Amino acid sequence: MASSEIDILIHNAHILTMNNNLETFNRGYILIKDTLISDMGPMDKFHFSYGNKIDVKEEIDAKGDLVIPGFVNAHGHFAMTLFRGIADDLPLTKWLNDYIWPIEAKLKPKDCYVGTQLAAIEMIQGGTTTACDMYFHEEKSLQAMEEIGFRGVLGYGMIDLGKATRRAIEMTRVKKFLKYAKENAKLCSIIISPHATNTCSDELLLASKELAEKNQLRIQIHLSETKDEFDDSMKKNNCSPITHLANIGFLNENLVAAHCVWLNDEDCKLLSENKVKISHNPTSNLKLGSGIFRYQTLFENGITIALGTDGAASNNNLSMLSELRLASYIHKGVNTNPEILPATEAISMATINGAKALGLQKTVGSLEIGKKADLAIINTKTPNVWPPHNPYSLIAFCTNDSNVKTTIIDGKTVMKDRQLLTINYKEVMTEAKDIILNLMKSDDLKQYKDKLKFLQ
Ligand SMILES: [Zn+2]
Repeated sequence: MASSEIDILIHNAHILTMNNNLETFNRGYILIKDTLISDMGPMDKFHFSYGNKIDVKEEIDAKGDLVIPGFVNAHGHFAMTLFRGIADDLPLTKWLNDYIWPIEAKLKPKDCYVGTQLAAIEMIQGGTTTACDMYFHEEKSLQAMEEIGFRGVLGYGMIDLGKATRRAIEMTRVKKFLKYAKENAKLCSIIISPHATNTCSDELLLASKELAEKNQLRIQIHLSETKDEFDDSMKKNNCSPITHLANIGFLNENLVAAHCVWLNDEDCKLLSENKVKISHNPTSNLKLGSGIFRYQTLFENGITIALGTDGAASNNNLSMLSELRLASYIHKGVNTNPEILPATEAISMATINGAKALGLQKTVGSLEIGKKADLAIINTKTPNVWPPHNPYSLIAFCTNDSNVKTTIIDGKTVMKDRQLLTINYKEVMTEAKDIILNLMKSDDLKQYKDKLKFLQ
């Protein structure tokens, strides 16, 4: 190999590959060429193979710090960063109807562009390198993600509320976005995104499925998130939302179902039989009082369980480190069993399982030769993780986002030593504040009047 072909060398790193064998390298190296991991292994192999001859464009001496695959956030609504903290301590239906949907209706494409930028910044700072979105004005979200160099999996969220005219509009919009994405996406990919069973007609769900199949894309949907949603389906269809989806032929292995909190035993079986992938979003489920996910039952059924933050209006941040820790703790607690969801499994949920859910397991989710160079370097020399012993334990139970030192996506360093290299975060923060302040001042949004003082 000609030495000049190497773009980035990371050496003296403790590498957690998160591959099938959970292989680690105590003192290891990674070589990145263009967008890919071209070689990796223990330092002994590096010295033997390359000696002192290697000439690289960028050299990172990890000095014993941890290198992990970038996190894969399997479910979120990026531009909702703009709504962070504007309505808390409310149940889902009231939160959506009285606070979120009225202000969302006012969002312009430029607003979603800035909200998505803010999401990407936060996620890069937390070591996330791939994330799945469901929102609107997705052309602008795609533009923001491509400019920053973030691997977005973007979906235009469709809602028809049973109305044929609205359904036609939604289908036109999603097809327009598909066309735009095919012409403009280099790093990002697309996911077809009907919103939920109680906001989409069966006709829209089946049209979404057909569109996904025709374009060989995955589908995401919110599913069995709340008791209300479950009860409504029992009244309307005389069965659970998941049984209903099975009855209309909607469930399959290309479906990523977010939440899945309200499940009966038959639902668990149907999800397993149809190889549906799940995005577990524990913070959002707890904060909205939606309920507790049946992790252990679903895990024992062999279902791929990924992890998502949901939007920043119901989380209220996009930290996968916080999310994986909470997931581990909550299921240990509710099962009164500390052996459930150990550190390795929690990190797998946040990395390779997310990649599997989104159909990207051949390219991201673990550190392997030939895969995309999407990774995070974790600072292990801070008091909150000191002294470092078990690296999995350190990540799952000690670190926070500020321990993420460097983030690389698609072979490009997007954050180095906490410096963002592809975007000015201060400008984005100023713009985001101006946008939300103006929206909350709208004459017809009186519910926000008493919330404006702090922002101003
Ligand atoms: Zn959601």
